Amino acid sequence: MTTSNAIPTVKLLIDGEFIESTTQDWRDVVNPATQEVLARVPFATAEEIDRAVASAQQAFKTWRKTPIGARARIFLKYQQLIRENMKELAAILTAEQGKTLADAEGDVFRGLEVVEHAAGIGNLQLGELANNVAAGVDTYTLLQPLGVCAGITPFNFPAMIPLWMFPMAIATGNTFVLKPSEQDPMVTMRLCELALEAGVPPGVLNVVHGGADAVNAICDHPDIKAVSFVGSTRVGTHVYNRASQAGKRVQCMMGAKNHAIVLPDAHKEQTLNAIAGAAFGAAGQRCMALSVVVLVGEAQAWIPDLVAKAQTLKVNAGVEVGTDVGPLVSCAALDRVSGLIERGVQEGARLELDGRNPSVSGYENGNFVGPTLFSGVSPSMSIYREEIFGPVLCVTAAATMDEAIELINANPNGNGTAIFTRSGAAARHFQEEIDVGQVGINVPIPVPVPMFSFTGSRASKLGDLGPYGKQVVQFYTQTKTITERWFDENEVGGPVNTTINLK
Ligand code: NAD
Repeated sequence: MTTSNAIPTVKLLIDGEFIESTTQDWRDVVNPATQEVLARVPFATAEEIDRAVASAQQAFKTWRKTPIGARARIFLKYQQLIRENMKELAAILTAEQGKTLADAEGDVFRGLEVVEHAAGIGNLQLGELANNVAAGVDTYTLLQPLGVCAGITPFNFPAMIPLWMFPMAIATGNTFVLKPSEQDPMVTMRLCELALEAGVPPGVLNVVHGGADAVNAICDHPDIKAVSFVGSTRVGTHVYNRASQAGKRVQCMMGAKNHAIVLPDAHKEQTLNAIAGAAFGAAGQRCMALSVVVLVGEAQAWIPDLVAKAQTLKVNAGVEVGTDVGPLVSCAALDRVSGLIERGVQEGARLELDGRNPSVSGYENGNFVGPTLFSGVSPSMSIYREEIFGPVLCVTAAATMDEAIELINANPNGNGTAIFTRSGAAARHFQEEIDVGQVGINVPIPVPVPMFSFTGSRASKLGDLGPYGKQVVQFYTQTKTITERWFDENEVGGPVNTTINLK
């Protein structure tokens, strides 16, 4: 980044160069704990986006043929550089996004795991071979890269989610155009600098910034073959429809309303700790945050314990030691979450703990909301229907586990869920009957590690294949099937036939 008028500008990355945008349209990147303007981010022009795609298209010609070992070694080097720069990456992330330094390191680390996985691409991008499918005939498959792929990422994991995307796309032989969240693009850019330092060649990774116009340009661009999106259901549905209509392969990981079921036999202390961390940690701005708890039977008596646990969490700036709950990402997010809490009160939910307007000494201008807990929440209320994306937990009750499962399966979202119990039989029944992508059994935020794939049901996901794991190798490659026959010098010609002899 360079500095003009004392405020640094975020650069575009085109053809291996970090360049200043020529746009007139700029937004501020703001520290949500202090309102300090950290940088200005450009909304790239249509011409700049075209240039990024053209650079990726050009680089694909050679990158697609780069030996798999050479591609893998770049990611071996990249994971090392990310480790060496972990503290700096976390500090940038906390400053622009708000989460605690520990959560910021977690954000980088979960992305780093995907980079490590990308370094093993030699074992992942393997085809299949069947010998003698007919006399003297073999069939095998090639998993070939698609071309220019694009990624559009949300604000809440500005390290992990870009790293879900470009390492696996590039490792499989594609080139990439990334459009990070305009709210916190700085850590993403630092990760891109490190990627180039690790050896990603010019044009193989490009970055453009912007909002709706940049996203639409990516969806429509004829030279982009695949789009990976992570963000809200509203925008993701639009991206899915628009990019699919333009003939692209698309995967969209979208919004959530994650429920936990608590059975009365659960380990009480462990369960309360897990719920408090998952509901209020990272200010409730995780796509896998627990936002609804269904207390079954006698567990309904645990509400005061849950409130007491929530009250132990410390609200402060993410950089301060001992902080559990940092600020929300923006003033707009603060207004939205505060407004939804007010609606919850008006619609008749019981506000057991009100986290609005906490006093945070030294950070009086920060976008803070403390842990907030409603009981008596019903499915018709706004706080149940909408993804609040703040530290607000809705508690509801069910007489039986099956009633709780029915409630969860009736919710439009199916991103994550968890059950807390000591009964293996109950957990197994839950695992069988629940229609949700990520399922935790005494694990509150069951984000899969990179050898598995992130997934989702119903409104939480569009497209068949997930953003990492084995599925993403399928997503970023085209399977080509080769059926092959070779003739000996003195082989006698057979009958003229267009099909192989399957006898
Ligand atoms: P968002 O949908 O507002 O933004 C995502 C991306 O879309 C950003 O890059 C943004 O610039 C762009 N965008 C915004 N408005 C647009 C428009 N009108 N047209 C085209 N593009 C537009 O999401 P967010 O607020 O940044 O992130 C939070 C959301 O992401 C939550 O809903 C959360 O559940 C979801 N999320 C889901 C997962 C998952 O894996 N399922 C992971 C992380 C976040």
